[in-house]
Amino acid sequence: MKRREFVGGLAVAAGLAGCAKPESDCSAGTAAESFEWSCVTSWPPRFPGLGMAVENLAERLNRASGGRLKIKVYGGGELVPAFEVFDAVSRGTVEMGHDASYYHKGKVDAAQFFTAIPFGLNYMELSAWIHYGGGIELWRELYEPFNLVPFLCGNTGVQMGGWFNKEINSINDLKGLKMRIPGLGGEVLRRAGGTPITLPGAEIFTSLQTGAIDATEWVGPYNDVSFGLHKAARYYYYPGWQEPGPGLECIINRDAWDSLPAGLQALVEITCQSITGDMAAEYTNGNANSLQQLIADPNVELRAFPDEVLQHLKWITAEVVAEMMATDPAADKIGKAFYEYLEKVESNSRISEKAYLDTRSG
Ligand code: CA
Repeated sequence: MKRREFVGGLAVAAGLAGCAKPESDCSAGTAAESFEWSCVTSWPPRFPGLGMAVENLAERLNRASGGRLKIKVYGGGELVPAFEVFDAVSRGTVEMGHDASYYHKGKVDAAQFFTAIPFGLNYMELSAWIHYGGGIELWRELYEPFNLVPFLCGNTGVQMGGWFNKEINSINDLKGLKMRIPGLGGEVLRRAGGTPITLPGAEIFTSLQTGAIDATEWVGPYNDVSFGLHKAARYYYYPGWQEPGPGLECIINRDAWDSLPAGLQALVEITCQSITGDMAAEYTNGNANSLQQLIADPNVELRAFPDEVLQHLKWITAEVVAEMMATDPAADKIGKAFYEYLEKVESNSRISEKAYLDTRSG
């Protein structure tokens, strides 16, 4: 059922009068029409960063549209389970969703390229590929059969490798490890001898504390401290090879999207972009603050993964991605575009961001 509301006849008439474009441009709605949508998410309600990004999206859309586009946000499990956002929006149960496209692994494998690929694009590189390098066109094409329109809407920046209750000194230390790690990173862990588990954020702390899992990755200091993960494991490893700068998605049911007037469509597009930049800034600040807390905590040890471990994980990643591309034509097409872009952008990142950061901290 559509939750569209039409304001009084007078306002509608005024809106129609204000539409000077050819009829085809105005048919999707009038300037005076208003919309009330529901948005389901994979995040705990109003969770710092992830959950607030979509609350901010709703708040900004309401404010910038003068109340013409109102969105009610539901946390994971409030209306539909955390991992059923894609299906709920695809079916039209709700108009909008906010989650991460790598949660669709097993359903739309190629979608993972738009969140994060281990050892893949970082935050700015992913935004560059999606908005300027042809990524968004490939993403829209991939979601077309599901009646969904995707937008990049948020990025956490490079994540942490995760929380472990034992030291990771060699690749053998990952054997037998039951770890919460979604997406392709999970498949890489499996081939390294571990057992990947996919759990929504809200279930991580208890699972780690009770020993149902041995290790977990979540996001970075900002979010991990919110969940109290530092109270459930001792070793905090970096870098987050599995998620170098995961982009979040805002997905909109195609019929709901088509019902929006062009002005509101533009507003949605612009606001999603603003959330991506905003969220990356929020995480840069939040991670820096929370890291200070972790450094001061005598029960936490910050560790870098040994080079040998990272190198091994990189080899396995190449194997996993090659297999996915060989068996799925969509993954092949999108993967080729992704890696072509990575190679190009890497040559610039090496002499700019990387060279600068090495110099600054050297
Ligand atoms: Ca993560």
